[in-house]
Amino acid sequence: MKTIAIIGAGPGGLMAAEHLAKKGYKVDIYDHKPTPARKFLMAGRGGLNITHSEPIETFLQKYGESEDFLRPIIEYFTPQSLRIWCAELGEETFVGTSGRVFPQSFKSSPLLRSWLSRLADLNVTLHANHHWTGWNDQGELSFTTPETKTIKPDATILALGGASWPKLGSDGSWTTELEKRGIEISPFRPANCGFYVNWSDIFKSKFAGTPLKSIALTHHDITVSNEIMISQHGLEGGGIYALSKSIRTSIEQHGTTTLHIDLKPDLTEQQLEDRLTKPRGRDSQTNFIRKQTGISPVAINLLYECGNKTKPLAHQIKNIMIPLSETFPIGRAISSAGGIKLSELDGNLMLKRCPSVFAIGEMLDWEAPTGGYLLQATLSMGVFVALGVDKYLKSANI
Ligand SMILES: Cc1cc2nc3c(=O)[nH]c(=O)nc-3n(C[C@H](O)[C@H](O)[C@H](O)COP(=O)(O)OP(=O)(O)OC[C@H]3O[C@@H](n4cnc5c(N)ncnc54)[C@H](O)[C@@H]3O)c2cc1C
Repeated sequence: MKTIAIIGAGPGGLMAAEHLAKKGYKVDIYDHKPTPARKFLMAGRGGLNITHSEPIETFLQKYGESEDFLRPIIEYFTPQSLRIWCAELGEETFVGTSGRVFPQSFKSSPLLRSWLSRLADLNVTLHANHHWTGWNDQGELSFTTPETKTIKPDATILALGGASWPKLGSDGSWTTELEKRGIEISPFRPANCGFYVNWSDIFKSKFAGTPLKSIALTHHDITVSNEIMISQHGLEGGGIYALSKSIRTSIEQHGTTTLHIDLKPDLTEQQLEDRLTKPRGRDSQTNFIRKQTGISPVAINLLYECGNKTKPLAHQIKNIMIPLSETFPIGRAISSAGGIKLSELDGNLMLKRCPSVFAIGEMLDWEAPTGGYLLQATLSMGVFVALGVDKYLKSANI
């Protein structure tokens, strides 16, 4: 029986294992952590957004310049296929706000439990505490467990993840080993991340941890309506993650950039002007703004913190400008950009410079916003690579 080693027991590796075991291969998964899929479990903490229900063409556009690469992969295992797969594992899915799809339990753990039991039934063996260190001179895969162990499978799938949240396992330590083999790797950068803002002590002591809701955020020509979170060191949350690629790219190119916030998107500047020129009476300025515009205390204080005092109040409310020049560290980002350049792979996801070695998931150089796009692409790659490995092993007649 032909043997396949999968290194990395995240969602990508586990999905590849399932599909190859179903094709009759002997599959072994290796991971350096004591338990599998730690990031997948973490993703379920705040609600596992596994995919999105929007039409497939809109869905695919979310991958930006990686759309062409991912199209055949996601068309092969679509968001709908993923929902069926979840249901077969006993976790029906539902469509939540803005079309995002979640498992009924909202969490990853029930899904992971029945997935691991399916893999055990398929005779997939999981080897925990195996840190992959590369290949030895005989071309064997080498692990520290902590003692050295080597194996020579018929095919290898690398599913080692990106570089965010390294304590969950994906620490990017594999890059040097692949670079030694001439494989081009784009440097890892934070994606779906927060940005530093130098808040005044008073503002952060009062508002760190407070969400800013019902706002519109604009960076260059992209506007999103989504809440953000004021944090001790800056801004985080869905709205800022959605713009993070654009903001990060501007910072990379120009060193600094400006985020524009509309604190009252459902009123025009003129409507605000009309309300704010009414007599204030005995109200404090803050109370008056709150009563006339309905914006929250945190929004009013952001106005005091960052508003351009030379402009009329109504204009300031429509256009708070926040200069940004640094992302939060990659260790705190939801995902990472960078990784193995897509040009290093053939149409079956095999590394052109390393025959019989395939690579999938977040270790490849693509990125996507939050909304279920990360897991969908990774899981689809897990299904798709199984086809490629099967084709390769049959054609190579190993
Ligand atoms: C807080 C948080 C919330 C998220 N929420 C969502 C969400 O709701 N929806 C969504 O779509 N995505 C979400 N994501 C992103 C998603 O979890 C990842 O994109 C996904 O887990 C990537 O899967 P992967 O299989 O490529 O890699 P990973 O899940 O990172 O798995 C890689 C595996 O490789 C192992 N490994 C690495 N190096 C070695 C080595 N040298 N030797 C042996 N083993 C090694 C690691 O231990 C790990 O188990 C979230 C991420 C975070 C951090």
